[in-house]
Amino acid sequence: MVDLVIVGTVALDNVKTPFGEVKDAMGGSASYASLAASIFTDVGVVAVVGEDYPDEYLVKLKNKNIDTDGIEHTGKSFRWTGSYEFDMNDAKTHATELNNLETFDPVLPESYKDAKYVFLANIDPVLQLKVIEQIREPKLVAIDTMNFWIDSKKEDLLKVLEKVDVLLINDSEARQLFNTPNLVKAARQALKSGPDYIIIKKGEHGSILFTNEGEFIAPGYPLETVCDPTGAGDSFAGGLMGFIASADNVNNETIRKGIINGTMIASYDVEGFSVEKLENLTSDDIKKRMSSLRRMCEY
Ligand code: AMP
Repeated sequence: MVDLVIVGTVALDNVKTPFGEVKDAMGGSASYASLAASIFTDVGVVAVVGEDYPDEYLVKLKNKNIDTDGIEHTGKSFRWTGSYEFDMNDAKTHATELNNLETFDPVLPESYKDAKYVFLANIDPVLQLKVIEQIREPKLVAIDTMNFWIDSKKEDLLKVLEKVDVLLINDSEARQLFNTPNLVKAARQALKSGPDYIIIKKGEHGSILFTNEGEFIAPGYPLETVCDPTGAGDSFAGGLMGFIASADNVNNETIRKGIINGTMIASYDVEGFSVEKLENLTSDDIKKRMSSLRRMCEY
C-alpha cells in the first residue's frame, strides 16, 4: 500500500563544490525526496530513468522499501550538471539534459491511485499535472519547482498551483515567480494562487511557513561540515510529506512538526555528496538533532 506518491526526477548528477566533485552520481528530486520520506511512510515513486541508469542506484531506493513500480525505463537518463561556490546557498546550473523526460507520459500503477498524500517534486509542471489527475482522492498535495521551469513553463506551473495545497519554493524562485523582491509579498501572492500553505526555503537560514492564519519560522540547523547542498530542498520536502503522511492528519501542528523533521533530514543530506547520508539515516538521528535544535531556540 502506497501512502505517499512522489513524482520527480531520478537523475544522473555531475556536481562540483569547494569540497569535492562527483560524476554520474545518483541524483534527482524524486530520489532525495523518496529516501527522506521513506523514514516515515510507504512511498511510491513516479519517474523515468534511461536504459543507462545504474541498477545499483535503484537498489538504494528498494533497500528503503520504496515502491519503484512507477519508474519507467526508456531512452537516456535526465542529467543535471551544477556547481556551488563558497556561498553554497545558490546552485549554478551548467547543463540540464532532459533526454527521456521530453517524451515521458506518466501512467500510475493502480496501487498508487488511492494514495492520500502526493508530492510533486521538481519536474516539468505538465507531468506534475498528469500525476495529480490520476490520484483519486488526495488529502494533501504539495509541489516544489525551480527557476528552470519558471523560465520555460510558467503558465503550466500556475495551472498546477490552482490544484495543490502546499507550495515549497526557495526564496529567489519565489521572488522570480511572483515578481517582487519582498518575500512576505511573494507569499501573499502565492496564497492567492491556490495553495493554503506556502513554505519559502532560505537555504542554510531555514524556512518560513505562510498561511492566511499566521506564520511559522523554522531555523536552519547550524553545521560545521557542508559538503554538497544538492537535494537539501528535496529531502526537506520528502521529510515533511513523509511525516505528515505517517501522522495522517493535516493541521497546523503536524505541518510545523513536519517542517522541523524535514529541516533535520536536509541538515544530514548536505553533510555528504549525492544521497550517501540519506541511505543510512534513522529516526533516532533525526530526534537527536531535534532536541539539540530545541535547546538552541529556548530563551
Ligand atoms: P535541490 O538541490 O533540492 O534543488 O535538488 C537538486 C536535484 O534536482 C538534483 O539532484 C538534480 O538532478 C535535480 N534537478 C536539477 N534540475 C532539475 C530540473 N530542471 N527539473 C527537475 N529536477 C532537477
